[in-house]
Amino acid sequence: MGNTEDTRFSRRNFLKGAGVAAVAAAGGMLAGCSGGGSTPAQASSGEQAVNWSKEVDVVVCGYGAAGAACAIEAAAQGASVLIVEKAALSGGSMARCGGAIMGAPTKIQQSLDVKDSADALYDWVMTCTDGTCSKDIARAYADVAGPNVDWLDALAEEHLGYPCFEMAMAKANVGTADGGHNGAVGGCLDATGCEYEKFGVKLEEAVPRTHWAKATPDNTANSGPELFDPLKACIDAQSTIEAVYETALKRLVTNADGVVVGIEAEGKNGTEFYKANKGVMLATGGFPAGLEMQERFCQDALDYATYMSDVCTGDGIKAAMGVGADLYNMCNYYPIEVAQSYHYNVQYNDVYHSWNMDKEGYMEVPAMNLAETHGGLAINADAQVLDVWGQPIEHLYCSGCDTGTNIFGIPGNYPGCGCYVSFSIAFGRIAGEKMATA
Ligand SMILES: Cc1cc2nc3c(=O)[nH]c(=O)nc-3n(C[C@H](O)[C@H](O)[C@H](O)COP(=O)(O)OP(=O)(O)OC[C@H]3O[C@@H](n4cnc5c(N)ncnc54)[C@H](O)[C@@H]3O)c2cc1C
Repeated sequence: MGNTEDTRFSRRNFLKGAGVAAVAAAGGMLAGCSGGGSTPAQASSGEQAVNWSKEVDVVVCGYGAAGAACAIEAAAQGASVLIVEKAALSGGSMARCGGAIMGAPTKIQQSLDVKDSADALYDWVMTCTDGTCSKDIARAYADVAGPNVDWLDALAEEHLGYPCFEMAMAKANVGTADGGHNGAVGGCLDATGCEYEKFGVKLEEAVPRTHWAKATPDNTANSGPELFDPLKACIDAQSTIEAVYETALKRLVTNADGVVVGIEAEGKNGTEFYKANKGVMLATGGFPAGLEMQERFCQDALDYATYMSDVCTGDGIKAAMGVGADLYNMCNYYPIEVAQSYHYNVQYNDVYHSWNMDKEGYMEVPAMNLAETHGGLAINADAQVLDVWGQPIEHLYCSGCDTGTNIFGIPGNYPGCGCYVSFSIAFGRIAGEKMATA
C-alpha cells in the first residue's frame, strides 16, 4: 500500500511540474515564431504553405498492431504507403504482448470441431459491453475477426515459412477455459481472460476462441513478438511500403475544405511534412504512457504505472483533436492490480521496441499497472474518424488504442484474451482497404 501511494504521488507531482514546463515551452515557441512568420500550427493548417518531403497514397502513423495491418492491406489494394514510427524499432505494445488474438470462426476452430461463428462473437461482445458497444462496430469487428486469424497464419506461412499458430498445441488444449499462464504454455486455442461466470457461462462451457501464437524456440515465453513477426516480415517484403523511424506525428495537415491531406512530423532531422493523397491512418497506441493526456481526461489513471509501450502518449488522439475530432469514453482503461512476471524469448531484445526485460527475458510488472487505455477517437464501422457532429473527417482513419470504442467493455468485462490485437487488426485492415479503394 505504501508503494502504491508513493507511486501515485510521485506520478501526480511529476505531472504538475511537467505541465507547467510544457505550457511555458509552448508559449515561448509561439512567441518566438510570431515575429518571424507563421507558427507551426498555421503552417500545418493550409496545404499551400507546406513543403512536402514525400508524397504517397496512404500515411500510417504508428508501426504496431493497427498500423501494420493497415499498411499491409492498403498496399495489397495497390496503394503506396509510408509508415511513420516514433520509436527506433517497430512493434509497439503488440510486440511485447502475450501473443493472443481472438477470432471466430477460424480454420483451427473448424479443424478441431469447435462450433463457433461471427454471430456468436458479436453476441458475446454485446454481452460483455452491457450493450454499450455500437452495434455497427461490433458487427464489423465480429465479421472479420475470424478471417483475420487465418490471414495472420497465412502471412506467417508465406513470409516466414511456418504457421503462426500450431495445430498440435491446439489439439492438446482445445476446450480448456484456462490453458495455464498464457497460451504459449497452455496451447494455442483456449478461452482465457474473461470472467465468464459473471455472464452466466461456466468456464468449461466457454467457447475457445483465443488463439495464441506459438513461441519460438521454446514454449515458455509470451509470444507477442511471434504474433507480430508475420506482419513485419510481410511489410519488409513489400516494395510499396516504406517505414521511417524516430519520427513522430505531431499535427495533421488539412486543405481549405477540411480534408486531411497529410501530416507534420518531428524526426531526427527536424520537421517533415508527408503528403497523403488517399488518407492518413492514426495508429499511435492510445495514451497509456501519456501523463499529460491522463491529467486532462482520466486522472484516475495517474495512479498506475504501465507495461505498455513507453512512447504511446496520445499523439494520434491529440493530432485529430486539432482538426475537430470527437472523443469518446476517455476514462475507460484496463487496470491490472496484481504484480506479474512476463517471460519472452530473449532473442527479441533488439528486434522490437523498448523492452524492460532482463537478460533471461523476464519483464517484471509491478501491481497497479495501467494496461490499455480504451478512450480515444470516435470512429464509425469504416474506421473513419468522426467530428463532434458525427460526420466523418475526410481522409482520416483510426484503429487500435487510439479509438474510443466500447468494444473492450466495461473495465474488467472485456471479451477475453486477444480482443485488443484482434480489434486493432480488424479496423486496421478495414481502414487500409477503404483508403486504398476510395
Ligand atoms: C505485456 C502486454 C501483454 C498484452 N497481451 C495482449 C494479448 O495477448 N492479446 C491482446 O489482444 N492484447 C494484448 N495486449 C494489448 C495489445 O498489445 C495492444 O492493445 C495493441 O498492441 C494495441 O495496438 P495499437 O496498434 O493501438 O498500438 P501499438 O501496438 O502499441 O502500436 C502503436 C505504435 O505507434 C507508435 N507511436 C506512438 N506515438 C507515435 C507518433 N506520435 N507518431 C508515430 N508513431 C507513434 C508506437 O511506437 C507504436 O509502435 C498486451 C499488452 C502488453 C503491454
